[in-house]
Amino acid sequence: MEELLERLLEECRPAAGQGKVADYIPELSKGDPEALGIYVIGSEGKRSWAGDCRQVFTIQSVVKPILLLQALMDNGAEFVMSRVGVEATGKPFDAINFSDQSLDSGNINPMVNMGAIVMCSLIHGRSYDERFQRLLELTRRLAGGEIGVDQAVYRSEKSHGSKNRALAYLLKSNGLLDGDVEEVLDCYFRACSIQVDCRALAHIGAVLSNRGRLPVSNERIFPAAMSRYVNAILMTCGMYDGSGEFALRVGVPAKSGVGGGIMAVVPTRMGIGIFGPALDRKGNSVAGIRLLERLSAELHLSIF
Ligand code: GLU
Repeated sequence: MEELLERLLEECRPAAGQGKVADYIPELSKGDPEALGIYVIGSEGKRSWAGDCRQVFTIQSVVKPILLLQALMDNGAEFVMSRVGVEATGKPFDAINFSDQSLDSGNINPMVNMGAIVMCSLIHGRSYDERFQRLLELTRRLAGGEIGVDQAVYRSEKSHGSKNRALAYLLKSNGLLDGDVEEVLDCYFRACSIQVDCRALAHIGAVLSNRGRLPVSNERIFPAAMSRYVNAILMTCGMYDGSGEFALRVGVPAKSGVGGGIMAVVPTRMGIGIFGPALDRKGNSVAGIRLLERLSAELHLSIF
């Protein structure tokens, strides 16, 4: 497996040249455009990796499935579905244009910013600090190790978050967001700034592939029904407005983030963590997708 990963990684690394590191949040622009790493954790616990796996980066949108899990664990599926829908928006992660659709809960998707902001408000806790700490604790358990928050990215997100503020106030003015808007947003910015590496993303993917149980120990973290819920949404909306093409090229549930991370779930078989900060126009890692496409072809990973 290591040999295969090494070979595919070197084959796909040049693809990074076609992408660009995110710079709409200044702190993100410091990412190394040539970095590429992959880590795989099989459902029986076997680990394999290649490339720049040790580099730490911010989780960004890959936190969205974890926000969804926490919201589901705290409120149950019926209540969550009454606040955020499950239909793909087919629009960029921070889209604000609803001119051809009414703005109601059924049209808010948890894998894009509007839905993720709503989910921050659904997490239980007496204060927003407590809500964030609970999210961080769940992320630690899913990632199988210590993780922190990148304070510089958090400050950068917060001071360049006008678009997210616009989305949150739009939700609030339409009666779709409870609580203090700035506090909810602060929780969202902190959530995006959680630090991970490829191993952590692979571990999170392995729990989702293992129907809610940790690899090796088999300890249950969340019910199997919730992994079905999350994996289904990842399949249709996890790669922003590139989810349809990703389903064709790779064919597994996955979530990308503008920090360059991709967390992929191969149901019952493995979790995969990717780091490759050079992004395509839709915000997905160019070399990362290429690498997953090649791995999927070699190991017949597509669920279709
Ligand atoms: N921090 C990012 C934002 O909301 C997350 C975007 C992403 O990874 O898609 O602007």
